[in-house]
Amino acid sequence: MSRFTDRVAVVTGAAQGIGAATARRLAEEGASVAVVDLTAERAQATVDAITAKGGTARAYGCDVTDYEAVEAVFAKVAEDFGAVHILVNNAGITRDNLFFKMPKTDWDAVVTVNLTSVYNCSHVAQKYMCAQKYGKIVSLSSRSALGNRGQANYAAAKAGIQGFTATLAIELGPFNVNVNAVAPGYIATSMTAATAERVGASAEDHQAEVAARTPLRRVGQPEDIAAVVAFLASEDASYVSGQTLYVNGGAR
Ligand code: NDP
Repeated sequence: MSRFTDRVAVVTGAAQGIGAATARRLAEEGASVAVVDLTAERAQATVDAITAKGGTARAYGCDVTDYEAVEAVFAKVAEDFGAVHILVNNAGITRDNLFFKMPKTDWDAVVTVNLTSVYNCSHVAQKYMCAQKYGKIVSLSSRSALGNRGQANYAAAKAGIQGFTATLAIELGPFNVNVNAVAPGYIATSMTAATAERVGASAEDHQAEVAARTPLRRVGQPEDIAAVVAFLASEDASYVSGQTLYVNGGAR
């Protein structure tokens, strides 16, 4: 498979979880991958996994909530690899709490990391993509966008991504830039392990409980999402734009 030969991809929050799986998948299919996380040191493990398999990747440290840092990292990626073709807006955090107990700091943190970062990275990326008349932007929304107890901040940010995606597809389509989102259900990562801990369950018990009420009777793995992100970033999805694809084992 080589759907991404000669393509350069930027994946944010790619030190672990869904971002790391996505970086690995894009690299396996031929992309040169900029593995972005808060520090280059954290991102290095993903780079090592890619290069061990003969792929091409580099680690970059960047807080995606900082517009100037994002501009600098894209400039470096373009200098290192010659272009930016694919952006995967994956970095995200949760700060769950019932709304009446939710401090403004947790609202701001979640909206800034999950949504404002998508503005920052997409705004910088579109300059490269529109100039070259080619680009793919895929952002991580969530099933929680439809509403989830204890996640007013996260649901608002992830629903915001869906509106942003639909709008950016209209504006960037004429420049041959596809803009889509993926809305995962429960995926086994550090993020959901932290959720389990908060409700006093082990990660295994929490996953078993979620699997039992999921039609496909399992929780998702990071690779399940990486495969769909790769599809949306590929020419297989060249006439798909403005969509949010739910990837949640059939759960409602
Ligand atoms: P993880 O917490 O495992 O990974 C997220 C990564 O993003 C971490 O490496 C984290 O670094 C990094 N990150 C956080 N803040 C920033 C920042 N400001 N700048 C750069 N990097 C940052 O999450 P998942 O892999 O589970 O989730 C990935 C995405 O998918 C997120 O957007 C999440 O909301 C979404 N999603 C996840 C679901 C799930 O069930 N797991 C379900 C639906 C959506 P550090 O660890 O150092 O903070």
